[in-house]
Amino acid sequence: MEIRAPRGTYDILPSQSVKWQYIEKILRETAAGFGYREIRTPMFEHTELFERGVGDTTDIVTKEMYSFLDKSSRSLTLRPEGTASCARALIENRIYSGVLPVKWYYTGPMFRYDRPQTGRYRQFHQFGVEVFGSHSPYVDGEVILLLIRMLEKLGLQDCELHLNSVGCPVCRETYRQKLVSFIEPRTAQLCDDCRTRYDKNPLRVLDCKERTCQAAVQGFPHIIDSLCNDCANHYGVVKASLTEMGVAYVEDHNLVRGLDYYTNTAFEVHIPSIGTQSAVGGGGRYDGLVSACGGPATPGIGFALGLERVLLAMDRHPVREWPDLGLDVLLVVLDENLTVNAMHLLDRLRVADIRADRDYNGRSMKAQLKFADKLGARMVVLMGEDEVERGVLPGRSMDTGQQQEVPQEDLIALIKRILA
Ligand code: AMP
Repeated sequence: MEIRAPRGTYDILPSQSVKWQYIEKILRETAAGFGYREIRTPMFEHTELFERGVGDTTDIVTKEMYSFLDKSSRSLTLRPEGTASCARALIENRIYSGVLPVKWYYTGPMFRYDRPQTGRYRQFHQFGVEVFGSHSPYVDGEVILLLIRMLEKLGLQDCELHLNSVGCPVCRETYRQKLVSFIEPRTAQLCDDCRTRYDKNPLRVLDCKERTCQAAVQGFPHIIDSLCNDCANHYGVVKASLTEMGVAYVEDHNLVRGLDYYTNTAFEVHIPSIGTQSAVGGGGRYDGLVSACGGPATPGIGFALGLERVLLAMDRHPVREWPDLGLDVLLVVLDENLTVNAMHLLDRLRVADIRADRDYNGRSMKAQLKFADKLGARMVVLMGEDEVERGVLPGRSMDTGQQQEVPQEDLIALIKRILA
């Protein structure tokens, strides 16, 4: 039986990987422009890191982790997200005692045992950023601005920024009690998941996608009305800095993260046109995370962008020209005796940063020209006995069909001229 890729995973074939390279390049450059540097952490970590760093009441930890015992019976987990690993790296490498804040970005695959559908996979890719070591609400503003600028640079327009504040553990507790009293008489209308969530983590009922739950909590009290002075001020500055920078947002009272280490700012960007999985990225402040992972109290804020959804959105608006990473030159070799000459010429072209290749399967001249066309080569260079003897080489543009013969030593200059 044919072996297929596991459910929820897929191959990124070369016709698509050019798009991925392009997206990653733009994101890396934009992050670098905001002062971020790349961190690369392991693809798997001790399971306990995610239990502590993502939270053992979250869906990710209770239902979606790829955990396994290794040969020494240690429980390891394929990373479901990047923030916990960054916090662990900050602690393990004592980065918190150096110059703060640190600004990191990461990109790569994440793994969640989710129900696959459009925009939702079991192995998917994120580009994320984290800032550790600043309480300043202007950092929140800048992090959100970075997300917006990234999406703009990728040419995505119909983005909706959703914003909320979840306060601090103190004001959130006051709110939690208000919310529990509000939900209590309505528990019968909640879905099974929410009946459990209501006990452990009532804020999560607010972001349940079930219609019945959404209807049951209609008119719920908003967390921003329960913020303490400090948290209200923080939120005010974040909003003012976004307005100052011309970034539009909608306040979304359902946008909550129920865990203790999430503080203040929470945000998400949606592109409604990509379907039900419309959140392309989300993040927030997590001043309690580093201490939850066993480090000294260190504030932090970050976001993660889902690259499958970014690509989905970009493909919906095919106005752009994806960069062409195809072949520059196919060397058409007309005689097998010229193999050694061909090897040297190909090497010269490649050393000169010209993307060049040849046929190895004994095709006729006509078939080599067809092959060049299939490969999308922009030029062919013809190499025959006669030309080699005369020390010249004809180059032909595939676009215009124009052909020009030059002395061997002038070939690179000719190619560069034609390609330009
Ligand atoms: P989260 O880490 O859950 O806040 O997710 C951040 C972003 O990652 C989301 O906005 C999505 O774009 C993306 N994402 C999360 N889970 C998946 C998944 N299973 N498949 C594809 N993208 C995902």
